[in-house]
Amino acid sequence: MLLCDFHIHTKYSDGSVDLRRTVDRFGQAGFDAIAITDHVVNGDNSIGKLAHRFRLSVTRDNFNEYAENIKHEAERAWDKYRMLVMPGVEISKNYLSSDKSAHILIIDIKDFIPACLNYEQIFLGAKQQGALIIACHPHHMSDMSRETLFLWNNRDKYAKYIDAWEIANRDDVFNVISLKKYPYIANSDFHRARHLYSWKTLLNCEKDIESIKQCIKHNKGVAITLFRN
Ligand code: ZN
Ligand code: ZN
Repeated sequence: MLLCDFHIHTKYSDGSVDLRRTVDRFGQAGFDAIAITDHVVNGDNSIGKLAHRFRLSVTRDNFNEYAENIKHEAERAWDKYRMLVMPGVEISKNYLSSDKSAHILIIDIKDFIPACLNYEQIFLGAKQQGALIIACHPHHMSDMSRETLFLWNNRDKYAKYIDAWEIANRDDVFNVISLKKYPYIANSDFHRARHLYSWKTLLNCEKDIESIKQCIKHNKGVAITLFRN
């Protein structure tokens, strides 16, 4: 099975490891496929404005550079490690209330999607690009300051757009996803080197981007594993 992690931050947002070193860490650890998913933060409130001021968000202005560098790293990672590197973002709608906040991975993104759009616009924009839509850390977490509950609270309205939900994120496991029988994957939400050791996804499919997206969507041949040192 392919060892995968589809939720990874770099210095393009709030990660502490730069893109090249991040790719090398996963490549050396034997991963088959990863997605780089730096934050794209909503700029329509004070929290978002701070994130933009401290350059903790990919923006429309640097998205092309971000995507080009991921493409370059993807070529290098394939030659050196036979590891796929997919371009992604984490659309981050941050509000003071966790009930209003939501984080969404857009995997295999081609064009910039602003986080201040409404949910339907974001989901349809991602679908038009053929990207995968993943609901991140959808339920209560060990670190309450990171909780984002909007999509779970509004699942009856939005589940039809979501290709898979994170059933595990770093150290947290969300049993509500299995109870609801939603499609699932597990990710590290990598921000620091030690986050390499965390929940991961195993996929029983060919090692190419289309096969991986289909495997997650159909959610057959998907397993999770706790990757430890
Ligand atoms: Zn997040
Ligand atoms: Zn994240």
